[in-house]
Amino acid sequence: METNYITDGIGKKNYRCFLLGHSFIETKKVNTHFSEFECKTCKMQVTNDTKGQKITLTSQLKDINETLFYLNLKKQFLSKFYFRKDS
Ligand SMILES: [Zn+2]
Repeated sequence: METNYITDGIGKKNYRCFLLGHSFIETKKVNTHFSEFECKTCKMQVTNDTKGQKITLTSQLKDINETLFYLNLKKQFLSKFYFRKDS
């Protein structure tokens, strides 16, 4: 099994991030307070917590962000089309 090659690749990438820090790019804006980020180098995914610090994006957090994202969309939609006062 040629598994060494794969683990070596990941190791080198993580080593670079360890030395230089992750290069996060915003992959998704959840709402005005939350965004999801991905490291260009090691593809590590993070999100920010309520204090604005970056935390590892777990599948559970991803679900929460997804919910927040759609709640935000719904809110925008509702405020745009249902709560508009034309008076
Ligand atoms: Zn990284």
